[in-house]
Amino acid sequence: MAINTHPTLPEFDYIRPETLIEASDFLMRHAGDARPFLGGTDVFVRMRDGLLTSKFLVDVKSLPGMNDLTYNPQEGLIIGGAINMNRVIASPEVQEHYPLLADACRSVASYQLRSRATIVGNICNASPAGDTIGASLAFEGSLHIHGSDGMRWEPLADFFLGPGKTRLKAGDIVIGLHLPPPPAGSKGVYLKLGRNKLSDLSIVAVTALGYPEPAARSGYRFRLILASVAPVPFVAKDAEAILANTPITSDSIHEAACLAAEACTPIDDVRGSLRYRKQMVKNLSTKALFQVWENLKMLSMLDQRL
Ligand SMILES: Cc1cc2nc3c(=O)[nH]c(=O)nc-3n(C[C@H](O)[C@H](O)[C@H](O)COP(=O)(O)OP(=O)(O)OC[C@H]3O[C@@H](n4cnc5c(N)ncnc54)[C@H](O)[C@@H]3O)c2cc1C
Repeated sequence: MAINTHPTLPEFDYIRPETLIEASDFLMRHAGDARPFLGGTDVFVRMRDGLLTSKFLVDVKSLPGMNDLTYNPQEGLIIGGAINMNRVIASPEVQEHYPLLADACRSVASYQLRSRATIVGNICNASPAGDTIGASLAFEGSLHIHGSDGMRWEPLADFFLGPGKTRLKAGDIVIGLHLPPPPAGSKGVYLKLGRNKLSDLSIVAVTALGYPEPAARSGYRFRLILASVAPVPFVAKDAEAILANTPITSDSIHEAACLAAEACTPIDDVRGSLRYRKQMVKNLSTKALFQVWENLKMLSMLDQRL
């Protein structure tokens, strides 16, 4: 393949609709030729590199709901599509109730990039390495979407179909991400392994969230989500089941980490071999689960003292 040493952005028409209906209608009428964008950090780079062609780029940042960032204890958190990652990180409500999401955002590239990049864009881009997808799945998020048939909610658990592929249809615009209130006493960890410590996509990434759950045999439930080791970020269900059904010990944590490594289907590529990625899933899952477990134990000791 010839390398283009002077890549440039091809021509396109910039469209800025005033209403959601107008935006969805435009995207429907020009299906295949038009796409919505938010921060543009994926769209413009992919267009410049010739990986994407669009006659029309539809700026959806000013549409109703796109700039909402609200939290209440009954409903949880709403992050409008246009809220960039730095604003998510700076939100006192996110820091207090969803620190795992703030950590995931912090791991994305650089401050400069995060002042454009959005969580909704990260989710809609559907990269197996998307850094904010694990936390959004761990908190059982769903997307608020406006399409040609009106509004609907789409749970994130069923949203991803493959690299770059989602349940979004022509005319669909994601208005925001909703995260329900976090489970009481939850603790989370995001571990990302890249080729360097800053500004790289992950070779393997592990999101772990744990919380007390009296109905579980172990007394706890864990969520474990793996990224960059399958066509889509996915929940390691067998690992979660072990931790819900057997007492939490170093043996059960090691067993869960082994099950997580067995469940993944990574590819060999320039960033890591299949064998290396599987081994790293085991190592990072063990580390993340131990860290979460230590934090949960500490919290329970503090509760007993009060
Ligand atoms: C230098 C660099 C470093 C990066 N590092 C990282 C990293 O460390 N981790 C990481 O996860 N990502 C990284 N990325 C990728 C990118 O920054 C993120 O995926 C970002 O979150 C995308 O958000 P955005 O708002 O810019 O999305 P956009 O580029 O605007 O859109 C992304 C995709 O979502 C679609 N879309 C956008 N808005 C909507 C909507 N409202 N409804 C429906 N579809 C929509 C677009 O059509 C497009 O397909 C990096 C990118 C660059 C250029």
